[in-house]
Amino acid sequence: MKITSIEVGTYMMPRHVPRGYEGRRWEVLPTVVAHLRTDTGIEGIGHTITLNHEFTRSLATMVGEIGELMIGQDPRRTEQALSKIIYPANWVGPGGLLNIAACAIDIALWDIVGKDLGQPLWRLLGGANDRIRVYDSGSLIGVDVETLQRGAESALKAGYRAMKMRPGGDRHGRIKDTVARVRAIRDVIGYDVDLLYDVNQTWTPSRAIRAGRALEEFELFWIEDPTLMHDVAGQAAVARALDVPICSGEYHYDVPALLKLLEARAVDYLMVDMMRMGGITQFRKVAAMAEAFGVPVASHLIPEVFCHCIAAIPNGLIVEGMPWTQGLFRGLPELADGKLVLTERPGHGLELDPEAVKKHRAG
Ligand SMILES: [Mg+2]
Repeated sequence: MKITSIEVGTYMMPRHVPRGYEGRRWEVLPTVVAHLRTDTGIEGIGHTITLNHEFTRSLATMVGEIGELMIGQDPRRTEQALSKIIYPANWVGPGGLLNIAACAIDIALWDIVGKDLGQPLWRLLGGANDRIRVYDSGSLIGVDVETLQRGAESALKAGYRAMKMRPGGDRHGRIKDTVARVRAIRDVIGYDVDLLYDVNQTWTPSRAIRAGRALEEFELFWIEDPTLMHDVAGQAAVARALDVPICSGEYHYDVPALLKLLEARAVDYLMVDMMRMGGITQFRKVAAMAEAFGVPVASHLIPEVFCHCIAAIPNGLIVEGMPWTQGLFRGLPELADGKLVLTERPGHGLELDPEAVKKHRAG
């Protein structure tokens, strides 16, 4: 089997904009889709995103150029394909745009592998589980407490049994305001629904320890990225000081950076961004590495593909249910009892929704 052509499409996916977050960065999400076609008639699709609108064309160009490198290659030889992308391209990498673009191609390759074998990716990648926990990541975004509480109600109504919140506007404000926001959510969801807290790198280690202790009674599922991504020692100190699990890893590119977090015991749970890894092929290595440290793995973004990877591995913890890219596809996994139920459709099982294509295509 050989890859014969690549086509790239760019879509501006509309996003829910909570009060206080108005602006172009939030209103639409540039999403780049790669179509890899083969001489057998099988086509694989893979996607990637950029939160920086300024570089949408650069990302689409990079996806196309990496795709051109794949022409003539056997898509089933994913490691061989990767050896033509990540390692030789060290002048424009490692990391950055190279990885983000490579991810779309790597997902498309795995989609072809699955379709060729007639197997869904969750089984092909190990098949540890055929369903996987998911948390709502998009509803608890807002500056004021009432907006947060309404978001929590809607997430419960949608069937989620776990959801994630973030700090309010003032990252250096009073700890008691942080506590009040968390209490307001617990008042709505009770203690049978898991509550996750994402700090997005905005605390110092000492503030993280103080806040983490103050939040102890709320039994958070995890505190995510409490400190600056490069302050591995500071984050390890936070992880040592607190009983609540620390989850981190989404900001890092490539496998060695995540090994450092594991070695430093800076994480109780490892969050992996598939795009920053460069796709599924590299994700598998990170997942196995985390398993050796006894560390469960959680996903960051693109849940419609990532659910396969987290379900497949023995240390798969939970999927981030971020709805940004889902509107582009048909064949999404259903939500039941707080879990995504994976199907028998081969590959990742997704196809572009013709209506969404018509509405959102931008290049
Ligand atoms: Mg995060």
